[in-house]
Amino acid sequence: MSRQTLERQANLAMYLEPSVEGLRKYRGVLGPVDSRSVRRIAFPVPPGVAEILIKLSYDPFVEDADRGPDTPGFRKRWEREIERYRATIGKWGGTEALQHYQRFLEEACDCMGPMRNLLNLAVLDSAGRFRGRWDSACHFGQWVSIGKTCADPGFSAGPIPSGEWTIMLECHAVVTDACDYQLAIGWRPSEGRWYRGELHAHTTHSDGTLSPRELLEVAAQAGLDFIAITDHNTISALDAASREPTGAGAGAGLPMVIPGLELTTFYGHAVALGIREYISWHEAKLDDGMNRLASIVHEMGGLFAIAHPFSPGYPVCAGCQWEYENTDMSVVDLMEVWSGPWQRGILWNVPAMGWWEAELAQGRRVTGVAARDVHRRQELFKPGTADTCVWARSLTLEAILEGLKSGRVLMTSGPRVLFSLTAAGAPGTYMPGDEAWAPCGGSVELSVSVRTDCPSGPALVRIIRGTPGNRAEALFSAEADISGAHLVFTDAPSDHAWYRCELTTAEGHLLAISNPIYVERGDLGS
Ligand SMILES: [Zn+2]
Ligand SMILES: [Zn+2]
Repeated sequence: MSRQTLERQANLAMYLEPSVEGLRKYRGVLGPVDSRSVRRIAFPVPPGVAEILIKLSYDPFVEDADRGPDTPGFRKRWEREIERYRATIGKWGGTEALQHYQRFLEEACDCMGPMRNLLNLAVLDSAGRFRGRWDSACHFGQWVSIGKTCADPGFSAGPIPSGEWTIMLECHAVVTDACDYQLAIGWRPSEGRWYRGELHAHTTHSDGTLSPRELLEVAAQAGLDFIAITDHNTISALDAASREPTGAGAGAGLPMVIPGLELTTFYGHAVALGIREYISWHEAKLDDGMNRLASIVHEMGGLFAIAHPFSPGYPVCAGCQWEYENTDMSVVDLMEVWSGPWQRGILWNVPAMGWWEAELAQGRRVTGVAARDVHRRQELFKPGTADTCVWARSLTLEAILEGLKSGRVLMTSGPRVLFSLTAAGAPGTYMPGDEAWAPCGGSVELSVSVRTDCPSGPALVRIIRGTPGNRAEALFSAEADISGAHLVFTDAPSDHAWYRCELTTAEGHLLAISNPIYVERGDLGS
């Protein structure tokens, strides 16, 4: 299958609802002393948000049944609670009203149930405008939305200004000794789409055969939205590339350039993405794991990617194999797990996948990426190689790096594979890189959509599940018509888990790999 079957601008937004982002959870315990008080909770809203999501619940909702109408203290407590009311009645209504009131009280005490806690909340946007009120009758335990064009009942739609929003948590009555409240706040971005590109390429400024200009032209012919220029231990090509009219996106100009370099050391190669300055590597020692260089990359605002970790090493390819054993994997942002053509590179891609999965099982969310390590024109079109597709809000360096870091990444040799997850009892649709929250005991639904624009034979969709500390396992496998298929699987993980999907040919050759969607189980707010 040719990679050119992928559309030049693979806008997949239409197939996938963005998930809840910026999720914040608040939890607190209120007591009777908090009755008739208001708590202010401020939360930041970044630019570009289309919808604010809020969820509130509290427990207990009512008093225990053992404090109900048939219990000895029930009538006394009701009488005490409404004593003030009785005084008001007497003041303004006189004796007759008080007599009526006494009868009302007799009847009322026979039909009253346990008293209930009552919390509400009001929302103010960053401009101080009132945006609505939460009511336990219609909103309890549900996500409520305040959007640009629509909002749930009780709330007002309109622009979502960035800045500090405020929730006024209204504690109207707390009648139990303790009342646990759980509040979750999130948002959805206004826009996003998939951009595809190449994260590892050389020019004539190191051992590539294409000038910076030629590399960008070839990348444009390949329909890439972005390409990283990562020459060996030099940044001189970036000056030349910066003079080209890039950044307009595929079809309208040359691809956006991700500036970088390949830190080519004696014991391993790492691609630094998003940096424009030279980084001295000569001091890198085998036992320092390249950790210091990674921290320098981060200080410069860049991402640190382990390159082709299982390429043949010294002396066949000096320094190409990752020999560092003390690498702090928490400083590794990306790992090339699909280097060059999958089939030919199977000797080094399969162990790279194994390493990646072992890191995921340790709870380290390293993003898996594809990289051709381009040195020549034809390598950008070689069958079996893959693009790295990134979900981002815009084709800007900042947004693409953010998408890479957050794992919103798909590696594909051509087919568009959309992998998403929904959890029973939880809001939103989650995509690779997301952390989904799912209630304990509930199921998750995993959806895979496959599309390609040229006729092709059957393919296999595989769902891989990983759990903390365990080896990842293939959970489901199903045939799919690659020209258009939608498959849904259901699982009920007993613990935290992550899922990713793979698409292969019937012969088992990889066509696409997603990054994981992470599932956190538990009670909201815990
Ligand atoms: Zn290299
Ligand atoms: Zn390279």
